Amino acid sequence: MTKAYAAKNAKDPLAAFKFKRREVRPNDVHVEILYCGVCHSDIHQVRDEWGESIYPMVPGHEIVGRVLKVGDAVKKFKPGDIAGVGVMVDSCRKCKNCEQQMEQYCVEDMTGTYNAIERDGKTIAQGGYSSNIVTDERYVYHISPKLDLKAVAPLLCAGITTYSPLRYAGVTNGTKVGIVGLGGLGHMGVKFAVSFGAEVTLISTSPSKQKDAERLGAHKFLLSTDKKQMKAADSYFDVILNTISAQHNYKKYLNLLDLNGKMLVVGLPSEDPRTSPFALIKNRRSITGSMIGGTKETQEMLDYCAAKNIVADVEVIPIKKINEAYERMIKNDVRYRFVIDMSTL
Ligand code: NAP
Ligand code: ZN
Ligand code: ZN
Repeated sequence: MTKAYAAKNAKDPLAAFKFKRREVRPNDVHVEILYCGVCHSDIHQVRDEWGESIYPMVPGHEIVGRVLKVGDAVKKFKPGDIAGVGVMVDSCRKCKNCEQQMEQYCVEDMTGTYNAIERDGKTIAQGGYSSNIVTDERYVYHISPKLDLKAVAPLLCAGITTYSPLRYAGVTNGTKVGIVGLGGLGHMGVKFAVSFGAEVTLISTSPSKQKDAERLGAHKFLLSTDKKQMKAADSYFDVILNTISAQHNYKKYLNLLDLNGKMLVVGLPSEDPRTSPFALIKNRRSITGSMIGGTKETQEMLDYCAAKNIVADVEVIPIKKINEAYERMIKNDVRYRFVIDMSTL
């Protein structure tokens, strides 16, 4: 049996839970989980904020561990390797988007690591707040053992979700980038944008995060609750990465974009944000969404992080503190990713 923590419904706290993982198939990698990051998407889904949540739910999609066993046909991994699993564990593998290894946009929809029904049509996929996971090798990544593993876990979601849109938007030397929200995604966004050579501003509701933003490499800080500061930054940015997890209005941030400026949306509040066509037509601005990253780009991002020594800033917690961690994240009190030490299960 696999030990885990699960949500039984949208209301009760997470609690200890046991279930059975599938037997290792020829293409499967069996990973003993060492660390699992805590994403705000875990909270949205545990609390059924996006609708249609499936229970019991073992959340967790920022998984790092050690390979215990591999199936006969596995080529990429051997027992003892350090490996990661992210937000998806399967897809159709034959559509045009899967063919380009952009499986997150699979035309038949990707299979999430948890809160999803697997492609057999019956098994509930269960995530990383657990002692081990069995995943097809296509959706498992190599992790450089030279990185601090607990700080690597958040790269599997917060890392790729910010790396992918910043790359797609062509962020490079001198691009004026605003990162909105300094949480798990936002702090990785700051690190990546800085490493791509951009001029980076953190746009935050929390004055207390200014010092940290500078430490993370941001060049400027903009307090989004200060009307004067926001007015002064009107039409300033080329790119804004919006990581906000709670209800807000897009207009306030669109107004900060210069000619042809883009707002990259990754934050997924439960209520649809309002926007304004007037704010969009000015400066020919656009809004672009982005979902995690495909298997090819996720491995590329992990290799980039190993080469540049980029990892997350983490607060390691024992599993029994998970409910408290959720409460702190909702109060914007996370610096900057909680990571569960799975040996505490
Ligand atoms: P997080 O660590 O809780 O950080 C969210 C940050 O948003 C907060 O720290 C806060 O930063 C800011 N914020 C919160 N409420 C706000 C409000 N009302 N107005 C303005 N700013 C506010 O969350 P996360 O794990 O980074 O996830 C962020 C969002 O991305 C979630 O909705 C999550 O579901 C989504 N997500 C999407 C993808 C994807 O593929 N697109 C992948 C992963 C996660 P300040 O204190 O600096 O203001
Ligand atoms: Zn996530
Ligand atoms: Zn597909």
